[in-house]
Amino acid sequence: MILVLFGKPGAGKGTQAPLLAESLGVPTLATGDVLRAAVRGGTKLGLEAKACMERGELVPDSIILGIVAEELKQPQYAKGVILDGAVRTVPQAEGLATMLEGLGRKVDAVLAFDIDNEEIVRRLSDRTVCEKCQTPYSGRKVGDICDKCGGALVRRKDDDPEAIRTRLKAYEEQTAPVLDWYMKHGDQVAVVDAVGTIDDVKRRALGALGK
Ligand SMILES: [Zn+2]
Repeated sequence: MILVLFGKPGAGKGTQAPLLAESLGVPTLATGDVLRAAVRGGTKLGLEAKACMERGELVPDSIILGIVAEELKQPQYAKGVILDGAVRTVPQAEGLATMLEGLGRKVDAVLAFDIDNEEIVRRLSDRTVCEKCQTPYSGRKVGDICDKCGGALVRRKDDDPEAIRTRLKAYEEQTAPVLDWYMKHGDQVAVVDAVGTIDDVKRRALGALGK
Protein backbone atom coordinates (compact mmCIF):
# COMPACT_ATOMS: atom_id res chain seq x y z
CA MET A 1 0.00 0.00 0.00
CA ILE A 2 1.33 3.43 -0.94
CA LEU A 3 -0.29 6.13 1.13
CA VAL A 4 0.24 9.87 0.64
CA LEU A 5 -0.30 12.13 3.65
CA PHE A 6 -1.36 15.72 3.39
CA GLY A 7 -2.07 18.16 6.11
CA LYS A 8 -2.06 21.79 6.96
CA PRO A 9 1.04 22.81 8.91
CA GLY A 10 0.10 22.11 12.53
CA ALA A 11 -2.63 19.55 11.75
CA GLY A 12 -0.64 16.81 13.49
CA LYS A 13 0.40 14.90 10.36
CA GLY A 14 3.90 14.37 11.78
CA THR A 15 2.36 12.84 14.93
CA GLN A 16 0.04 10.55 12.97
CA ALA A 17 2.56 9.28 10.41
CA PRO A 18 4.47 6.91 12.76
CA LEU A 19 1.22 5.72 14.45
CA LEU A 20 -0.36 4.85 11.10
CA ALA A 21 2.90 3.18 10.03
CA GLU A 22 2.77 0.95 13.09
CA SER A 23 -0.90 0.05 12.57
CA LEU A 24 -0.51 -0.62 8.85
CA GLY A 25 2.85 -2.41 9.17
CA VAL A 26 4.65 -0.25 6.60
CA PRO A 27 7.45 2.30 7.09
CA THR A 28 7.17 6.05 6.66
CA LEU A 29 9.29 7.99 4.23
CA ALA A 30 9.67 11.69 4.94
CA THR A 31 10.89 13.50 1.86
CA GLY A 32 12.93 16.02 3.87
CA ASP A 33 14.76 13.20 5.67
CA VAL A 34 15.74 11.24 2.54
CA LEU A 35 16.84 14.47 0.86
CA ARG A 36 19.10 15.35 3.80
CA ALA A 37 20.43 11.77 3.92
CA ALA A 38 21.29 11.85 0.20
CA VAL A 39 23.10 15.17 0.64
CA ARG A 40 25.06 13.79 3.61
CA GLY A 41 25.75 10.51 1.81
CA GLY A 42 27.06 12.37 -1.25
CA THR A 43 25.06 10.35 -3.80
CA LYS A 44 24.98 11.74 -7.36
CA LEU A 45 21.53 13.29 -6.89
CA GLY A 46 22.46 14.30 -3.35
CA LEU A 47 25.38 16.34 -4.68
CA GLU A 48 23.10 17.99 -7.27
CA ALA A 49 20.63 18.88 -4.50
CA LYS A 50 23.47 20.23 -2.37
CA ALA A 51 24.67 22.47 -5.23
CA CYS A 52 21.14 23.95 -5.55
CA MET A 53 20.95 24.60 -1.83
CA GLU A 54 24.36 26.25 -1.83
CA ARG A 55 23.18 28.58 -4.59
CA GLY A 56 20.17 29.38 -2.39
CA GLU A 57 17.76 27.75 -4.87
CA LEU A 58 14.90 25.35 -4.25
CA VAL A 59 15.85 21.78 -5.10
CA PRO A 60 13.89 20.90 -8.29
CA ASP A 61 11.12 18.30 -8.04
CA SER A 62 12.95 16.07 -10.53
CA ILE A 63 15.95 15.72 -8.18
CA ILE A 64 13.77 15.17 -5.10
CA LEU A 65 11.67 12.53 -6.87
CA GLY A 66 14.84 10.83 -8.09
CA ILE A 67 16.12 10.63 -4.52
CA VAL A 68 12.76 9.28 -3.29
CA ALA A 69 12.76 6.71 -6.14
CA GLU A 70 16.23 5.46 -5.13
CA GLU A 71 15.06 5.10 -1.53
CA LEU A 72 11.85 3.25 -2.53
CA LYS A 73 13.92 0.55 -4.22
CA GLN A 74 15.14 -0.55 -0.77
CA PRO A 75 13.55 -3.83 0.38
CA GLN A 76 11.92 -2.35 3.50
CA TYR A 77 9.40 -0.55 1.24
CA ALA A 78 8.35 -3.67 -0.69
CA LYS A 79 5.07 -4.00 1.26
CA GLY A 80 4.28 -0.31 1.06
CA VAL A 81 5.14 3.09 2.41
CA ILE A 82 3.58 6.17 3.95
CA LEU A 83 4.82 9.21 2.03
CA ASP A 84 4.99 12.32 4.15
CA GLY A 85 5.78 15.63 2.47
CA ALA A 86 6.18 14.13 -1.01
CA VAL A 87 3.32 16.02 -2.65
CA ARG A 88 2.39 19.66 -2.15
CA THR A 89 1.64 20.77 -5.72
CA VAL A 90 -0.02 19.34 -8.83
CA PRO A 91 3.32 18.99 -10.71
CA GLN A 92 4.66 17.01 -7.73
CA ALA A 93 1.59 14.73 -7.82
CA GLU A 94 2.13 14.15 -11.54
CA GLY A 95 5.86 13.59 -11.03
CA LEU A 96 5.24 11.10 -8.23
CA ALA A 97 2.70 9.18 -10.35
CA THR A 98 5.17 8.92 -13.24
CA MET A 99 8.03 7.91 -10.95
CA LEU A 100 5.93 5.21 -9.23
CA GLU A 101 4.76 3.90 -12.61
CA GLY A 102 8.42 3.45 -13.51
CA LEU A 103 8.76 1.27 -10.39
CA GLY A 104 5.59 -0.67 -11.29
CA ARG A 105 3.69 0.88 -8.38
CA LYS A 106 1.02 3.50 -7.72
CA VAL A 107 -0.53 5.62 -4.99
CA ASP A 108 -3.32 3.63 -3.32
CA ALA A 109 -4.79 6.29 -1.07
CA VAL A 110 -4.42 9.92 -0.11
CA LEU A 111 -5.23 11.13 3.39
CA ALA A 112 -5.72 14.84 4.04
CA PHE A 113 -5.77 15.93 7.68
CA ASP A 114 -8.14 18.85 8.02
CA ILE A 115 -8.52 21.29 10.86
CA ASP A 116 -9.89 24.79 11.31
CA ASN A 117 -7.28 27.50 10.60
CA GLU A 118 -7.85 29.37 13.87
CA GLU A 119 -7.39 26.12 15.84
CA ILE A 120 -4.00 25.73 14.15
CA VAL A 121 -3.02 29.30 14.95
CA ARG A 122 -3.98 28.63 18.57
CA ARG A 123 -2.02 25.36 18.72
CA LEU A 124 1.12 26.65 17.05
CA SER A 125 1.30 29.95 18.87
CA ASP A 126 1.24 27.89 22.08
CA ARG A 127 4.28 25.92 20.88
CA THR A 128 7.86 26.51 21.95
CA VAL A 129 10.93 24.47 21.03
CA CYS A 130 14.26 23.89 22.75
CA GLU A 131 16.89 25.95 20.97
CA LYS A 132 19.45 23.18 21.52
CA CYS A 133 17.70 19.84 20.95
CA GLN A 134 14.54 21.10 19.14
CA THR A 135 12.13 19.20 21.45
CA PRO A 136 8.69 20.84 21.05
CA TYR A 137 6.62 21.91 24.07
CA SER A 138 3.14 23.31 24.51
CA GLY A 139 1.86 25.37 27.42
CA ARG A 140 5.39 26.58 28.30
CA LYS A 141 6.83 30.07 28.16
CA VAL A 142 9.69 31.37 26.06
CA GLY A 143 12.81 31.24 28.26
CA ASP A 144 11.69 28.15 30.23
CA ILE A 145 14.24 25.35 30.47
CA CYS A 146 14.12 22.15 28.37
CA ASP A 147 13.42 19.01 30.45
CA LYS A 148 15.77 16.95 28.32
CA CYS A 149 18.90 19.02 27.88
CA GLY A 150 18.58 22.21 29.93
CA GLY A 151 18.48 24.44 26.83
CA ALA A 152 16.24 27.51 26.65
CA LEU A 153 12.81 27.34 25.00
CA VAL A 154 12.24 29.69 22.09
CA ARG A 155 9.35 30.40 19.69
CA ARG A 156 10.12 29.42 16.11
CA LYS A 157 9.72 32.34 13.73
CA ASP A 158 7.40 30.11 11.67
CA ASP A 159 5.02 29.81 14.64
CA ASP A 160 4.24 33.52 14.82
CA PRO A 161 0.45 33.89 14.14
CA GLU A 162 0.92 36.06 11.03
CA ALA A 163 3.53 33.66 9.61
CA ILE A 164 1.15 30.74 10.31
CA ARG A 165 -1.74 32.46 8.48
CA THR A 166 0.52 33.08 5.48
CA ARG A 167 1.57 29.41 5.39
CA LEU A 168 -2.05 28.24 5.70
CA LYS A 169 -3.10 30.45 2.80
CA ALA A 170 -0.31 29.06 0.61
CA TYR A 171 -1.29 25.52 1.64
CA GLU A 172 -4.93 26.05 0.73
CA GLU A 173 -4.09 27.56 -2.65
CA GLN A 174 -1.82 24.63 -3.54
CA THR A 175 -3.61 21.74 -1.90
CA ALA A 176 -7.19 21.99 -3.13
CA PRO A 177 -5.99 21.51 -6.75
CA VAL A 178 -3.84 18.54 -5.66
CA LEU A 179 -6.80 16.77 -4.02
CA ASP A 180 -8.89 17.50 -7.15
CA TRP A 181 -6.11 16.02 -9.30
CA TYR A 182 -6.09 12.81 -7.24
CA MET A 183 -9.88 12.50 -7.33
CA LYS A 184 -9.89 12.95 -11.11
CA HIS A 185 -7.29 10.21 -11.46
CA GLY A 186 -9.45 7.82 -9.50
CA ASP A 187 -7.31 7.57 -6.39
CA GLN A 188 -8.99 7.07 -3.06
CA VAL A 189 -8.96 10.46 -1.30
CA ALA A 190 -10.13 10.85 2.28
CA VAL A 191 -10.36 14.04 4.29
CA VAL A 192 -9.84 13.25 7.97
CA ASP A 193 -11.10 15.56 10.71
CA ALA A 194 -7.91 16.30 12.68
CA VAL A 195 -9.59 17.89 15.72
CA GLY A 196 -9.57 15.66 18.80
CA THR A 197 -7.18 13.42 20.67
CA ILE A 198 -4.29 11.68 18.91
CA ASP A 199 -6.20 8.38 19.26
CA ASP A 200 -9.43 9.83 17.82
CA VAL A 201 -7.62 11.13 14.77
CA LYS A 202 -5.73 7.86 14.26
CA ARG A 203 -8.99 5.87 14.46
CA ARG A 204 -10.62 8.17 11.90
CA ALA A 205 -7.63 7.89 9.56
CA LEU A 206 -7.62 4.07 9.75
CA GLY A 207 -11.42 4.05 9.32
CA ALA A 208 -11.07 6.15 6.17
CA LEU A 209 -8.69 3.50 4.81
CA GLY A 210 -11.14 0.72 5.70
CA LYS A 211 -8.81 -0.70 8.38
ZN1 LIG B 1 16.54 20.52 24.85
